Amino acid sequence: MQEIKIELTKNPKAKPADQSKLGFGKIFTDHMYIMPYNKEKGWHDPRIEPYHSLELDPSAMVFHYGQEMFEGMKAYRAEDGRTLLFRPDRNIARANNSNRRICIPEVPEDDFMNALKTLVSIEKDWIPTAPGTSLYIRPFIIATDPFLGVRPSDTYLFMIILSPSGAYYESGLDPVKIWIEDDYVRAVRGGIGEAKTGGNYVASLKAQMKAHEEGYSQVLWLDGVERKYIEEVGAMNIFFKINGKVVTPMLNGSILPGVTRASCLDLCRHWGMEVEERRVSVEELVAAARDGSLEECWGSGTAAVISPVGALRFGDEVMEISSGGIGPVSQKLYDTVTGIQTGKAEDPFGWVVEVK
Ligand SMILES: *Cc1c(COP(=O)(O)O)cnc(C)c1O
Repeated sequence: MQEIKIELTKNPKAKPADQSKLGFGKIFTDHMYIMPYNKEKGWHDPRIEPYHSLELDPSAMVFHYGQEMFEGMKAYRAEDGRTLLFRPDRNIARANNSNRRICIPEVPEDDFMNALKTLVSIEKDWIPTAPGTSLYIRPFIIATDPFLGVRPSDTYLFMIILSPSGAYYESGLDPVKIWIEDDYVRAVRGGIGEAKTGGNYVASLKAQMKAHEEGYSQVLWLDGVERKYIEEVGAMNIFFKINGKVVTPMLNGSILPGVTRASCLDLCRHWGMEVEERRVSVEELVAAARDGSLEECWGSGTAAVISPVGALRFGDEVMEISSGGIGPVSQKLYDTVTGIQTGKAEDPFGWVVEVK
């Protein structure tokens, strides 16, 4: 493992005074992590520096062909003052899966983990403490060769920035309305859907705008080939409870394998529920909604943790779920996962990692 050179800021910023106005991704902490890569040295010379802007050549490859990957995770302040990360090993492994898919050299896992722990430790006073708040962690890598040809870059920058984030739900869990999109697609099998990379997000913007115009907050994507099977929501995986069973689309190469998704599956199995990872067609959902066997629906992802779905719209069909309210499994998962993340609930799987 490489030693991180640390330069602390001489001008620390004032921390946000009102934790109810943090929002998401707008405020950044005093320091950032940065580690360059080149062919000769590999990943080398990791540093923590005062947060600063970058100088890049306008021809840097990331600007033209989108060779970049990112991760998203959170640090929490427990009531007893401990600083906790949730399953960071999973994010590190997934980052390297994304890297492999888009030809970015893998980051050694121990350097990645050390970077997270050291940066979060330095910035721990930035972790907000109000209920539902957290310190959002954004690791990312960009391709920096100054070159307009299409090939993998030979140089990269790996960075981590931190952003204190407000409660996703200002007044408790709140069901969302979701638009099932059958025209635009997000990803196809064989493409980059299972990598966390910007290209998947730019592909999603148009349908997201369309859903907003129709009064829906998020898009639920169908598979890109037959436009028949449910895939996932913009930045969340999706779960259904149908006839007493917990059902989620199986990972097929075009779905992002969420850490929250895996945690929901583990918990539901731990609670003795029947769980199925399989293909779920939109026809099956419409039929289940009509005959009353679609009991619950929720999204899972780092930002919201669990997002109960109160309505799904497919074409002219509006499916109201859990009478537009919050179902019991959604509520139990939300309480349990956030309880584990903040050190309040027992952690039977050893998911939480303390930052000293
Ligand atoms: C990040 C992400 C998710 C959720 O993953 P988590 O690890 O649970 O945060 C789901 N879908 C997409 C497209 C994502 O980018």
